Amino acid sequence: MSNQEKVEVIDNSSTFNFKEEIPFNKPYIIGKELEYIEDAVKSGKLSGNGKYSKFCHEFFKKRYGFKECLLTNSCTDALEMAAILLNIENGDEVIMPSYTFVSTANAFELRGARIIFADSQPDNPNVDVQSIEALISPKTKAIVVVHYAGVACQMDEIMKLANDNGIFVVEDAAQGIESYYKGRALGSIGHLAAFSFHETKNIISGEGGLLTVNDDRFIARAEIIWEKGTNRSAFFRGEVAKYNWVDIGSSYLPSEVTAAFLFAQLENVETIQEKRKSLWNNYHQGFQKIESQGLVKLPTIPDFATNNAHMFYLLCDNLEERTLLIKHLRSYNIRAVFHYLSLHKSPYFLKENDEKDLPMSDLYENTLLRLPFFYELSDLHQNYIIEKINDFYINK
Ligand SMILES: *Cc1c(COP(=O)(O)O)cnc(C)c1O
Repeated sequence: MSNQEKVEVIDNSSTFNFKEEIPFNKPYIIGKELEYIEDAVKSGKLSGNGKYSKFCHEFFKKRYGFKECLLTNSCTDALEMAAILLNIENGDEVIMPSYTFVSTANAFELRGARIIFADSQPDNPNVDVQSIEALISPKTKAIVVVHYAGVACQMDEIMKLANDNGIFVVEDAAQGIESYYKGRALGSIGHLAAFSFHETKNIISGEGGLLTVNDDRFIARAEIIWEKGTNRSAFFRGEVAKYNWVDIGSSYLPSEVTAAFLFAQLENVETIQEKRKSLWNNYHQGFQKIESQGLVKLPTIPDFATNNAHMFYLLCDNLEERTLLIKHLRSYNIRAVFHYLSLHKSPYFLKENDEKDLPMSDLYENTLLRLPFFYELSDLHQNYIIEKINDFYINK
């Protein structure tokens, strides 16, 4: 913080307003991102699966214990690869929460699946195990869980349900980097998992993702699907004399520009996480009073899960209150945002499906509010946000 900023705040403490908006998110550079990109360009190999991609793969396997992993251009890509790997076909049913990002569903819809939406839990937006159980049928081929805000779903119960019924589990761990379930890294538990390095996540590369493969049966084919349905990777390792079209696939691998940026972020993962956890704790601390008065609900972390500080959200009492709070914050140049619209009520889904009742999903759609959260958020700005939210509830 510069001295000038400090003076400004003290001088105008009651009327102070930031001229520039405090955004919800802001991409940032923390280490050698640009140096590594330059090195990748100069090394003469800028397409995918080069040195930096391999550095990233090694990092992930070593730190999180994934059996195999492949960088992709997005989490959406990784989910699409998962749907191909599971041989999802017309009419197969795939169970997933309605309260999720559209890519979770689209990846399976593209292969002809019937998407079956489950409800969220009362205590957090993660999918409810009983809701999944009630939806399992002989046609169920996969369950996709979403670790919302990086907080683990109830994986033991979900894996047992899946194994008892011969169903595959895909973890949408887009928000789950550096988070654990009973000591196991998210993304290492399901048969397959997908991460995102979109600029809104903890670790970023602009766009970017990762497929993790935790079941040996999928390893060889994952690499082929990744490389446009060819055995090009085996060719470069000298295992086959020529590479050929051997399966379906697409161009899922990112260029070395993306991998170089990502690797520089990974080298700083501990610094990034320390900062994010401190921001999360500041928010949590700052709202203790209004929470104890029953004015808002704050996120809770179950005993079996860790907090990777992916996001900080509040639960308002109802939609009207949330709308007023967003407006109040906008008037102070603070950008707070709601999150998913329940997919079971989306125009696309309702074209082919009847409306069903998923009350918890609707509750989060209407009451959850995400606060500005990014590596470079300063204490000054964060305290200002906390103050304005407390003002809203105390003067309501
Ligand atoms: C961000 C996100 C995605 C999409 O990630 P991309 O890398 O942008 O494709 C998918 N699912 C969830 C739960 C997400 O939060």
